[in-house]
Amino acid sequence: MNDYLIRQYEQVKADVAAAAVKAGRRPGDVRLIAVSKTFPAADIAAVYDCGQRLFGESKLQELEPKTAALPADIEWHLIGHLQSNKAAKAVACASCIHSVDSVKLLERLERLAGEVGRRVDILLEFNLSGESSKFGAGDADAMALAQAAACCRNLRWRGLMTMAPLDADEMGLHRVFGGLRRLRDRMAAAFGVELPELSMGMSGDYHVAIAEGATLVRIGTAIFGKRDYMK
Ligand SMILES: *Cc1c(COP(=O)(O)O)cnc(C)c1O
Repeated sequence: MNDYLIRQYEQVKADVAAAAVKAGRRPGDVRLIAVSKTFPAADIAAVYDCGQRLFGESKLQELEPKTAALPADIEWHLIGHLQSNKAAKAVACASCIHSVDSVKLLERLERLAGEVGRRVDILLEFNLSGESSKFGAGDADAMALAQAAACCRNLRWRGLMTMAPLDADEMGLHRVFGGLRRLRDRMAAAFGVELPELSMGMSGDYHVAIAEGATLVRIGTAIFGKRDYMK
């Protein structure tokens, strides 16, 4: 049973590296996040035994027990939506939070990280419309959020994250992922910070994301198989 999972994992890992090379980048420039949501600790352990140390989960109620059950040298990234009232748990469990999308959440995380003396990496999540490569309507909000992130001392703002619309075609994917890269470049220049990370690309669209500069790809289905949310 695990043979299949291991084969899938090795294939995805090799394919991510190949996509990086094809894009004129180094294989090490793109890190694979194995998105293990809904899958049991035994599956994660099998992939861990192949050398994978970076895993992603969407929900705290799943992340928390998994961090307790699995080896301590796993780097856990929280990739799903986070409610402010669960921020303390997120700070305790995750080394990087990809889904910071409001000043309120950001300030709460900053305060909590300070209280427990823990430095936590964060990414700001933006929804870029496939219609336009420009960041339109939410521009003022986006810059206010970026400004607040640049001022944090306990949180380390590392970059941006996005999810492409499900119905985007290849051109639309290039617009969304390229748009996130350009927004990152603008923010890095505007606030004088280094923002090395671009978290973009999932099972169905990671090739385009890597071509557009992704440094973190979040891949679940292609490694673990289809998710059964009824389990
Ligand atoms: C579930 C999830 C993924 C992984 O998606 P797959 O299509 O299974 O690879 C990536 N990013 C986020 C935010 C997710 O919630």
